Amino acid sequence: MDVNRREFLKIAGLSTLFGVGVNSVFQLLAPGELEASLSPLKKDRKIQWAIAVDMKKVDDRMLDKAVEACHRYHNVPKIPGHKGLKWIWKEDFEHSFPEQENSYVNEEIEKMHFPLLCNHCDNPPCCRVCPTKATFKREDGIVMMDWHRCIGCRFCMAACPYGSRSFNWGDPRRVMTDEELKKLNPDFPTNMEFPTRTKGVVEKCTFCYDRIDKGKRPICVEVANKIKEQAFIFGNILDPESDIRTVLKERFALRRKPELGTGTNIYYLI
Ligand code: SF4
Repeated sequence: MDVNRREFLKIAGLSTLFGVGVNSVFQLLAPGELEASLSPLKKDRKIQWAIAVDMKKVDDRMLDKAVEACHRYHNVPKIPGHKGLKWIWKEDFEHSFPEQENSYVNEEIEKMHFPLLCNHCDNPPCCRVCPTKATFKREDGIVMMDWHRCIGCRFCMAACPYGSRSFNWGDPRRVMTDEELKKLNPDFPTNMEFPTRTKGVVEKCTFCYDRIDKGKRPICVEVANKIKEQAFIFGNILDPESDIRTVLKERFALRRKPELGTGTNIYYLI
């Protein structure tokens, strides 16, 4: 049975590379079966960082501020159109949860905007398809990017079912104004030669790993919670005593495309 599952994952990865629909491959398993089969991966770890967004506390102004703070902190330039870069963005209900859409959905929920970002999945398809291991999962569950190792093949973008990755079609520093260049955050990323990425590499949210390593919370969490306490609940989802586990026991939450079995770690409390 185990060997069959491994083979399935290989097929799923290859299918993504060669353009076979991801959905059709994943639909070979009953909902939840893939996640259940891979959950030991999570059990091996002691930490998996996660966020629960309290949609009763979130509003558009807060989301705009969180997006702006994230992009400023990570020196993400503003590029209009389909070549734009995004680490976190806001999206309507229909596009955030297409599988939940129906004609009679609660009007309040239908009007909400949801903050979307990399889900730091338990079983990330993006990591499985990367030929150079430029994207990988840390011990604490953060799905990372090493821009020095990225060859720009964009297999990870094709494999991610959530649109969480962006590609640098040009040099990100060229599109910045002089004013923006002066305001670059020199502390990010701490292990890189330059504070911005280069042409031809993929990028995405890193859960502010550099802040987490210093005992801080991700910048989006900080900004949102300054506006409304506990709007974004961040913590170790593997710790049964954590705030995030407590709130998930008490409130109903949605996750994006749970039927794919990727095991996303961003929860939306509704
Ligand atoms: Fe990878 Fe996409 Fe999951 Fe993030 S959301 S870990 S990019 S598959």
